[in-house]
Amino acid sequence: MPLSQSIADSFAAVVGPGSVLTKLEDVLPYSFDGTAALRQRPAAVVFPRSVEDVAACVKLAGAHSLPLVTRGSGTGLSGGSVPQADSVVLCLAHMNAILGVDPRNLTLRAQAGAITQAIDEAAARHGLFYPPDPGSMRISTIGGNVAENSGGLRGLKYGVTRDYVMALEVVLADGQVARFGSQCVKDVAGYSMKDLFVGSEGTLGIVTEVLLRLVPRPAARRTMLALYDRIEDAAETVSAIIAARIIPCTLEFLDQMTACSVEEYAHVGLPTDCAAVLLMETDGHPAAVADEADRMAAIARDHRAREVRVARDDAEALALAAARRNAFAALARRRPTTILEDFTVPRSELAEMVGFIAETARGFGLQIGTFGHMGDGNLHPTFLTDERDEAEMQRVHLALDVIAKKTLALGGTITGEHGVGLAKKAWLRQQMGESSFDLMKQVKRAIDPRGILNPGKIFD
Ligand SMILES: Cc1cc2nc3c(=O)[nH]c(=O)nc-3n(C[C@H](O)[C@H](O)[C@H](O)COP(=O)(O)OP(=O)(O)OC[C@H]3O[C@@H](n4cnc5c(N)ncnc54)[C@H](O)[C@@H]3O)c2cc1C
Repeated sequence: MPLSQSIADSFAAVVGPGSVLTKLEDVLPYSFDGTAALRQRPAAVVFPRSVEDVAACVKLAGAHSLPLVTRGSGTGLSGGSVPQADSVVLCLAHMNAILGVDPRNLTLRAQAGAITQAIDEAAARHGLFYPPDPGSMRISTIGGNVAENSGGLRGLKYGVTRDYVMALEVVLADGQVARFGSQCVKDVAGYSMKDLFVGSEGTLGIVTEVLLRLVPRPAARRTMLALYDRIEDAAETVSAIIAARIIPCTLEFLDQMTACSVEEYAHVGLPTDCAAVLLMETDGHPAAVADEADRMAAIARDHRAREVRVARDDAEALALAAARRNAFAALARRRPTTILEDFTVPRSELAEMVGFIAETARGFGLQIGTFGHMGDGNLHPTFLTDERDEAEMQRVHLALDVIAKKTLALGGTITGEHGVGLAKKAWLRQQMGESSFDLMKQVKRAIDPRGILNPGKIFD
């Protein structure tokens, strides 16, 4: 439903007439995110440029009982920024300034619309490092990363977005501006409210500014590929590396369908005739890197890797990591609809889970390419399908349910990094149990009593 002219004019009075979109052709690109088969046209899209703009827009939306959906770059994979029919989308793309790097305190301050890769590049100019590197880092925003608590290829050693958030500026549901956290490395004053907002998927407040922790840039790194004839051997290698007390920065897995798709797309020399590929990377002091790399290669061979290749130089290492980041795009070229999941299991259960996904694909007659952050137990079974084929889509939904239930039975989680959004609501209560699910709903009601912030996400 389009916005009435008088309400559109009120938003334009806040952000300027060129920063409010209401025409069908203008709002269409904001009706979906990276999630397949979910779309809904919003009533309007508004582009604030400051925290004051955001606060005024929230007050305006509240006054007219309009749902507000915050949007960064729209790369989300659980439908988090897909609007409701009468929603106003608040797109923070223009609030993308990196406000400063503080090398004395090892911190970086940025507006929420800053691009993740630009944050690491700004840190690198000071010899510093912002480790969280979601596959989408060239386009995702730090606000989106905070809202989803995003992970990345280096999560195994360096952790996820939450581990780097020191403070947040947030516009609350009534338009008040709140600040949580501080510049202090240690701070236990009151409840850790910033941690409540990290991962809250735009349902509790709108993040407008972040203060991030940086770390020294590692002096050396070594990247290797281990090739396998059996997927289970790759999964067991990962468990064995962790059990040997080695924490590399990256342990990424690609099955044969994914490796072939990436090779066709990126031409980086990935083998196309093996069942599984592990991309392994260790970084840190040069002596420690050499030692860890040798031990990891030995463990891979002990687990029947048919070959272990070491990247010749930085350029080849970067090309391999970039190719892995392209896995989603490469798989998406195969069929019209790509449904990418992020079921996560304890690492000791990886071999069973990977085998189960392959068996489920066969059982339901579906194409599933699996890749993922195997060192974190975080798998991305990717359904290659066609949403116009009703019978096939029904089998996809049944297979998804079977895999979700198996994940929970193995002590896993329905989402390791993409969030619940719209896509995973069906299984959340089952995973959390009644009392923690109900408490979460009470928190939402207490912080957003009128339910205007991203309604319908995480729970109904
Ligand atoms: C190719 C590809 C690879 C990916 N790889 C990874 C990966 O490795 N790891 C990973 O974790 N994810 C990955 N993702 C998922 C996605 O990129 C992340 O969830 C990312 O953090 C979303 O950022 P965004 O700016 O696009 O947010 P959006 O998609 O615009 O929004 C995501 C959610 O955050 C909320 N939100 C956005 N900005 C704010 C804000 N300022 N304040 C409050 N709420 C806000 C939205 O309402 C929505 O609920 C990938 C996606 C793609 C397409």
